[in-house]
Amino acid sequence: MNPITVHLDQLRKYNVPGPRYTSYPPATHFTEEFTPPLPNPHTPAPLSLYFHLPFCAKQCLYCGCTNIVTGDQSKSAEYLGYLKREMAMRAKQMAPGSEVVQIQLGGGTPTFLLPEEIEQLGEIIRATFPMAKTIEAGVEIDPRSLTLEKVKALHNAGFNRASLGVQDTNPDVQKTIARIQPLEQVAEANQWLRDSGVESINFDLIYGLPGQTLESFNQTMDDILTLSPDRLAVYSYAHIPWIKPFQKSFEERLPNVETKLQLLQLAIEKLTSAGYVYIGMDHFAKPSDAMSKALANGTLQRNFQGYSTLKGVDLHGMGMSSISHAGGCYFQNKKDLDLYYADLDSGNLPLLRGYTMTAEDKIRYDTIMHIMCNLYVDYAQLSKQLGIDFADYFKADLASLDDLEADGLVRRESGGLHVTPLGRLFIRIVAMRFDAYLQNDQRQGRYSQTV
Ligand code: SF4
Repeated sequence: MNPITVHLDQLRKYNVPGPRYTSYPPATHFTEEFTPPLPNPHTPAPLSLYFHLPFCAKQCLYCGCTNIVTGDQSKSAEYLGYLKREMAMRAKQMAPGSEVVQIQLGGGTPTFLLPEEIEQLGEIIRATFPMAKTIEAGVEIDPRSLTLEKVKALHNAGFNRASLGVQDTNPDVQKTIARIQPLEQVAEANQWLRDSGVESINFDLIYGLPGQTLESFNQTMDDILTLSPDRLAVYSYAHIPWIKPFQKSFEERLPNVETKLQLLQLAIEKLTSAGYVYIGMDHFAKPSDAMSKALANGTLQRNFQGYSTLKGVDLHGMGMSSISHAGGCYFQNKKDLDLYYADLDSGNLPLLRGYTMTAEDKIRYDTIMHIMCNLYVDYAQLSKQLGIDFADYFKADLASLDDLEADGLVRRESGGLHVTPLGRLFIRIVAMRFDAYLQNDQRQGRYSQTV
């Protein structure tokens, strides 16, 4: 891949706050005046289940997750008891005939759980929900909390995919973000998982961390490429000190926006040269991996976990703060652990807020996901899919792309819209032009920067 030139004035123009489009509209639009939908008993749907396991042994200073730091190991057993209750209530809401095709454990730190708790969680899930014959079951892993016993427990519980949180291998960066994790520890975790038969291993990296330089991040890339991950997610560091005040501790060491973009460009060049397919905003995969195949087949999807290979599934999140997307609605659980427990103690679903999508939301959701996953909009194809005249429906939105086209981010033709390699670096900016809610959201300063 040839290096892409970005002019400084373009960078300044397009580095504005914007949503990441893991949902549309973004979660900031969910409201507490929301009643969850009743399932339609005649339309079983493939199910993707997400379980949020919030506990962490220590606080990493770059973290933007909903988590609880504790040294009390007994908290996970108590939490599992509540999760079991929630699963029983949620299973009753799903249309008969629906089967689980995907399971994901996220956090917090799922590997905070003891080995026997990991196995117990797998048993509860399988006893509560009908399972499809083939299931993708993935888990986010903090290599610092992984043991061989936990790897065996994950294998016994049926987990066949893993995502290792690495972020950066440089000792100075690790010290600044309070996440000390020698490469040997990552390599050992990787080897244990490979030996246990895990089919696909993803590494999470972050660019834009305090103290990162082009040289240090280049070394991080070299380090992780020696471990040959199947997938890589290279996320943009989201600086949100108004939500996570501890991020202020390293503010003066954050790379500037030019360096941050160069770090992303370095990652793209380095990983594509090493044979990885650039999937989209922040994901890379080996050509043989299911994610690369989904990109080629047009079945790539975006949800709360980023890009996904499964299209048309109902996503049900369980555990505190988790978000669901099913039946044209989004709904989110209580973010406070005590409130989450209290609702379940009273026999109620622990819902915090939700949103019922309008017909227009669904059209814009499909359009934005299409742009972010396929980088091309075929007007005739989307007109057929959405039951509209695409070029006419989005007349004003398409006309608003004049400056993006002049700057080389998109190319409009009579029958479609292409996102260029430069536009790919600013894909959120392209998607934002199709977002009907944005002007008001930006005024309220609710998002991290797009670069
Ligand atoms: S382990 Fe993960 S969730 Fe926990 S503090 Fe670190 S980054 Fe956040």
